Order: sequence, then structure tokens, then C-alpha cells
Amino acid sequence: MSNAIEIEGLRKVYAGDGRTPEKVALKGLDLTIPTGSIFGLLGPNGAGKSTTINIMAGLVRKTAGKVRIWGFDQDVNPRQSRAAIGVMPQELNLDPFFTPEGALEVQAGLYGVPKRDRRTAEILDLVGLTDKADAYARTLSGGMRRRLLLAKALVHHPQILVLDEPTAGVDIELRQMLWRNVRRLNQERGMTIILTTHYLEEAQEMCDEIAIIGEGELIVRDRTENLLNRLDGKTLVVMPDADPGEFAVPQGVDVARRPDGSIALTYSKSKTSASEVLAAVNAAGVGIDDVRTEEPDLEDVFVALTHRD
Ligand code: ADP
Ligand code: MG
Repeated sequence: MSNAIEIEGLRKVYAGDGRTPEKVALKGLDLTIPTGSIFGLLGPNGAGKSTTINIMAGLVRKTAGKVRIWGFDQDVNPRQSRAAIGVMPQELNLDPFFTPEGALEVQAGLYGVPKRDRRTAEILDLVGLTDKADAYARTLSGGMRRRLLLAKALVHHPQILVLDEPTAGVDIELRQMLWRNVRRLNQERGMTIILTTHYLEEAQEMCDEIAIIGEGELIVRDRTENLLNRLDGKTLVVMPDADPGEFAVPQGVDVARRPDGSIALTYSKSKTSASEVLAAVNAAGVGIDDVRTEEPDLEDVFVALTHRD
């Protein structure tokens, strides 16, 4: 299977009621997600990320379009397409009267996992909840609840794991624990991972491929490294051994002084080279103690793509 998910012309219109008008959340989205990847779905609030994910998971009914999960058309084989995917939702919706162990057993039952195939203890261990197996959900901390949601997404051994904003408002320790788990599931079990996140740094670090959506439409989809290469801007940060004062730079180079005494020279890779920029600093008659480059990050790509006129 080369693509874990194939989406064509996906539309979603949420019907309005008396007070709220109808809302077109997805305007004909096309998206393929390669098997075995860690795939990031990014976009500003209200872009349609959760809607897309919830449609994939069979939790929200699409208005139009085709969705194939693990090769199964959602409309033709709804049961198989649901079985291939596990979702950790954005909302913390847990029944307060179940223990983690009970919640996993119920979830396994819902997915028709026979008793002999259940891996409740193993999954609790994976998310670090073994010693809370018998605690009531309402006594669990926010972090533990999130880990339980991850565990619930795994009970039916899905090939595809979807995480909707898993680290929003989560402390750094839990965040690292979640990412360690996700990486292991990807590397050791070949699980395809799809995640949405607000933290671009996180997406840049975790994801092989990224799709950015805005207002229900695909803006760009590419390998993370290609996205980063799309930006032409580059910054050279030079630490001079003395204040050079005003000095001449090639046309188009932007000079900014930083509080630590270094000088940031931002230029366009296609118009100027690093050696030309350095030569300009040398010509000012000062020595250079240190020099480093700053590559554009996903934040820059995001701003460039979602705020274009
Ligand atoms: P994201 O996850 O990218 O923030 P969502 O998919 O949650 O975006 O929402 C996309 C759009 O659809 C938003 O304008 C949101 O207000 C609207 N929307 C989401 N869920 C519902 C719903 N159940 N009823 C009506 N509108 C909704
Ligand atoms: Mg969302």
C-alpha cells in the first residue's frame, strides 16, 4: 500500500440552525498521505484540520468527495476503513466512571477486538499508565487523561494513528513522552502517523511531510525539507571584533544589529552569495570573530504561504 489515505474532492458543509449560518468547512480537498510517514496537517484555527481528521475517522459525515483509508473506500467498506484508523481526539472526552483498564476494554469491545487479541496491559505500559490502571478517570491529571486517549486510539491495532493537537496546552515532559511513543510506533511498527499541531517547530522536527490548509483548501503539500528550501531568504550572523559603524552592503541585503553586538545580514540566496555578504563586512575594516547562518524555519514558510495577498 503506497498511500495510507487518499482523499479526493472532500467537501464538508456544517448545516446552520436558526442562530448560526451554515459553514463550508472543506471546499474540495485533495490529499494523499504516504504509508509509513509521519504526516503533519497544519493550518490556522478554523482551517478545517479537525473536520478532515474526524471525517477520516468516520466521526463526522462528509458532504461530498471520496475518502480511501488503507485502500478501503469509506462509503463501500465503512467497517474496514474505520478499523484501519485510530484517533486521539482534540477534546478530552472521557467517561469519568471508567478506570483506564475499563476504558480500554470497553473501547476494544466497541471495535470488536476478541478477548484473546486484546493488549490492554501492554498498551497501558506503553503510555505509562500501568500504576493507574484501576484509578477512576476523574482522579487522573490532565496529562494522564491525554495518555489514556492515546491508549484508546491504539486498542484495535490500527495501521494509521491520528493525533489532533496532541500537545496543545501540555507540559514539556508529557510532550516529549508523547513524541517518543509516536516515533516508536512509527519506527518499530511502521504505523502511519498523522498529526495536527500549532507548534511549527514540533512539526518541523517530527514530520516527514506536511500539508498546510487554510479556509478549507489545500495551500501546499510537500516534504518538510522541500518546504524549507522554498524560502529564498537566508541570514548570516556575524560577530565583528570591533564596531564597524555604517558600512556598504550589496543591494537588497538587510542589516540588523542585535543586542549582543552581532550583525544579522539577511539576503536572498538567488541574488547574493554568502561570500559577497562577508566581503562587505571585511571591507568595513573590522575582523570577524564568529559567523553562523540562520536557515528559514517552518514558521517563515507558514507566514509566507498563509498571509499572502
Ligand atoms: P481546525 O481544526 O483547523 O481549527 P475545524 O475543522 O475545527 O478547524 O473547523 C473548520 C470550520 O468549521 C470552522 O469555521 C469551524 O467553526 C466550523 N465547524 C467545526 N465544527 C463545526 C460544527 N460541529 N458545527 C458547525 N461548524 C463547525
Ligand atoms: Mg482542530
